[in-house]
Amino acid sequence: MDKNSKICIIGAGPAGLSAGMYLEQKGYDNYTILERNDHVGGKCNSPTYNGRRYEMGAIMGVPSYYAVHDVEEFCGFTHDGPRLNRDYKDKNGNVIYPFDPKKNPLQIPHLLKMRSQVKKFGELLETKYKGYDVNGHRGVAQGRYDGYAVTPGREKVSGENPNLKDLTLPFKDFCKLNGVELVQDIWIGPYTSFGYGYFDEIPAAYVLKYLDFQTTMNFVNVNLWTWKDGTQSIWERLNDKLKNHARLNSTISSVERKDGKVYVTVNGQVEEYDKLIVTAPLAKFGDYADIREDEKKYFDKIDYERYDTMAFMPEDGKVPATSYYIFENMTPETIGHLMVYYRRWRDDDNQPIVTYTLRNHKDRPVLDYEATKKVVLDDLKTMKNPAKEVINEGEWYYFPHVFSEDYAAGWYDDVEAMQGKYDTFYAGEIMAFGDMDETAEYSRELVDRFF
Ligand SMILES: Cc1cc2nc3c(=O)[nH]c(=O)nc-3n(C[C@H](O)[C@H](O)[C@H](O)COP(=O)(O)OP(=O)(O)OC[C@H]3O[C@@H](n4cnc5c(N)ncnc54)[C@H](O)[C@@H]3O)c2cc1C
Repeated sequence: MDKNSKICIIGAGPAGLSAGMYLEQKGYDNYTILERNDHVGGKCNSPTYNGRRYEMGAIMGVPSYYAVHDVEEFCGFTHDGPRLNRDYKDKNGNVIYPFDPKKNPLQIPHLLKMRSQVKKFGELLETKYKGYDVNGHRGVAQGRYDGYAVTPGREKVSGENPNLKDLTLPFKDFCKLNGVELVQDIWIGPYTSFGYGYFDEIPAAYVLKYLDFQTTMNFVNVNLWTWKDGTQSIWERLNDKLKNHARLNSTISSVERKDGKVYVTVNGQVEEYDKLIVTAPLAKFGDYADIREDEKKYFDKIDYERYDTMAFMPEDGKVPATSYYIFENMTPETIGHLMVYYRRWRDDDNQPIVTYTLRNHKDRPVLDYEATKKVVLDDLKTMKNPAKEVINEGEWYYFPHVFSEDYAAGWYDDVEAMQGKYDTFYAGEIMAFGDMDETAEYSRELVDRFF
């Protein structure tokens, strides 16, 4: 492609800003990033309270966040945030130790069985499911892999592996098929409570591309990255460093693609581009763009999670000692209850604590937002950390994905085959997975493949 091509990128979250970085590194300087908000970062959202930033959106990374590390290197900073810790509570608010054999002698046989299944799972992923963890979903439904490996060298790897078709099954069925049901007890912590849905509805491919074995072990060992000024600061720094800063407060009212050009109407003015990269939700592309029949057919199949966060100040003397996970509230039966609440700074009792709740499950009507908020406030009382005041709320369009039937029918291969067709490229969460690194890594590969 001509290095002078005029490229329009929609969205200044991790996907859009990293697309700008990788384009720039490849010699494309003529890009424009359009952001509708008055700030960058998307779901990396770190407001300030009392001089310190807390997290309403993304919180953490792990050492295998190679694309995020690219950003750190490009801008010259590092993950300098607080060391996170956590404990567990049952649904009645009692502290429990589900993984500690000393505190749970009766559980020892179960824990040993779980440990042996985790070991077996790790081996299966390396052998039977070789290629399961490469970024993106190209070929998986056809039993192939093709992309970057999750290794420090991020080698380009590709090959045939018919077993990968199993990844189209819901994770619960995938575990059953492989006789490792108990691994769900480990994977659920960083999965369902992080808003990515329930294991009986989400294809294993999503679960395992995010929670590849190495990443899961990093969560288990609390080997995590955080940023002092919040995850939003990663993208603010990148935006500052890019030659072309994102244009904030950009309202796109139309996108018209004709005669090999892309016409974007921004704040009432028509701008002409050669190529378009969409990192904003594809399910909403038709709201402002001349969506084509094939695009609509696929984008209409995208579902998403209703994941809410709420920042509260605890009543005096009721500040939680650490962050707490409540496993009993991570089931479809306990939907709408408090799954986890986070304390970010150990040294500060005057900080907002943030709650995390899911409101949808495939087989149920979506729960009402206000009613769920009340349930969460009641749950905080049960947890003995009642809220004095709610100071912030986030109602997120979260983790766009497709269900098993559409995944198995080749949704990803069909959409990947459309890349570039209308001078348009699709990136962002749906194309990889809804976390900072998978989206940034996908942008890297997109630039590598097509530009
Ligand atoms: C509560 C919560 C916790 C999370 N925890 C983690 C975590 O710990 N670790 C992790 O790695 N990830 C986490 N994530 C997920 C991570 O934040 C997202 O996966 C990531 O931000 C996705 O990047 P993106 O650029 O694809 O999309 P987004 O971050 O959603 O960015 C999209 C951008 O596009 C803009 N946009 C949308 N429509 C338009 C339009 N029409 N015109 C112009 N601009 C538009 C939006 O305003 C936004 O800025 C969390 C997210 C949330 C909400």
